Amino acid sequence: MTKTNTANTLAACQALDQEDPLRSLRDLFQVPESMIYLDGNSLGVLPKATPARVAAAVAQEWGQDLIKSWNSAGWFQMPLKVGNKIARLIGAKDDEVVAADSTSINLFKVLSAALSIAQADHPEKKVILSELTNFPTDLYIAEALCKERGFSLKLVEAEALQTALQQDVAVLMLTHVNYRTGAMLNMKDMTASAHSVGALTVWDLAHSAGAVPVDLNGSQADFAVGCGYKYLNGGPGAPAFVWVHPKHTDRFWQPLSGWWGHAAPFEFTPDYKPAAGISRYQCGTQPVLSLTALDTALDVFLEVEKLGGMQALRNKSLALTGLFMNLVQAELAGHGFGIATPHEENLRGSQVSLTRSEGAYAIVQALIARSVIGDFRAGDGKSQPDILRFGLTPLYTRFVDVWYAVQHLKEVMDSGEWQQPHFSQKNTVT
Ligand SMILES: *Cc1c(COP(=O)(O)O)cnc(C)c1O
Repeated sequence: MTKTNTANTLAACQALDQEDPLRSLRDLFQVPESMIYLDGNSLGVLPKATPARVAAAVAQEWGQDLIKSWNSAGWFQMPLKVGNKIARLIGAKDDEVVAADSTSINLFKVLSAALSIAQADHPEKKVILSELTNFPTDLYIAEALCKERGFSLKLVEAEALQTALQQDVAVLMLTHVNYRTGAMLNMKDMTASAHSVGALTVWDLAHSAGAVPVDLNGSQADFAVGCGYKYLNGGPGAPAFVWVHPKHTDRFWQPLSGWWGHAAPFEFTPDYKPAAGISRYQCGTQPVLSLTALDTALDVFLEVEKLGGMQALRNKSLALTGLFMNLVQAELAGHGFGIATPHEENLRGSQVSLTRSEGAYAIVQALIARSVIGDFRAGDGKSQPDILRFGLTPLYTRFVDVWYAVQHLKEVMDSGEWQQPHFSQKNTVT
């Protein structure tokens, strides 16, 4: 990858695309022409196979076969079938993952189960430890559960996690790749540290699944959840997923004990009997059309497997993020940007986050007006700076996209274009 680090011309970036062993994957996606899309970490691009597959599910499975499709089209098995496809990307085994509900809801399920296990094994432990800049929904779900279950939520900076891992910690709840900075934690080491004080781990893989190699079993993790609409390209609001280490799955009910998690849902018994294994982490009827879209999108990763698998994706991702950071340093010196993403490869995921003390939102809007799509994440006005976020999905992002994105950013800054007042007007979704 040394070549990438010295690429400082458009021609050099074009050469990197020529040599890219994964370049054919872009053809599997409908990337809008003339758009440089660097937001696959928020909403992945539409796979070309998805519209026809979803249309067939609507016209034939729903339109013609109706209720029969629960059996004939395998609708009922879809959460596990899709779960098995995701399992291959995250170091889980067959029948250890189920695709269902949202990340927030799945987090509620696994965190509840983890607290139940902790309460049974270590009743004196009363703390959920997490990172101050973890994604808010994760913190909100934890906060509510703490209130209900008599635990407290302790939040520290990433660097202070090890020190804060004391005997009082019941659960260490972390997001593997930070949504703001793109910093990646070492799952294996953090899990070992947690276990050494008797704490369980809950990992959020929202910015990891499909973006970086993950080895849940190899890391001895306890619980994990993740997102279907980011790097997995399942479409807006796609079902999320949940994994539980087999040693924990059958110990406690998850609290959303709906009929899809029942051992025999079609016996319609009045009492709840949880299914064995990960099936019990389902709740109720799932969105079949959305599952169909996610199922189709995951087939892209079968192509990835033929081309070197997650490690090949990782190599390209690191080359893209490395190139982006180098070009920003070379082309935008003096424009007041900082880089929040770690330069060390082991410490970053698949995005680059820039900081700037003023104008971050307007600059992102000015880029969007030029069809360079990133996004803005607000700071707290104190220690956390405003962030300009650029997701570099290795499935469909080209090296020339990085080149042009940085050139656009340079033009936006050199011309002062971003200072036009309309770029500062906030939309509902940033
Ligand atoms: C995107 C994201 C979520 C999203 O949760 P939803 O329930 O889908 O809204 C949760 N956690 C993290 C860390 C995320 O990045």
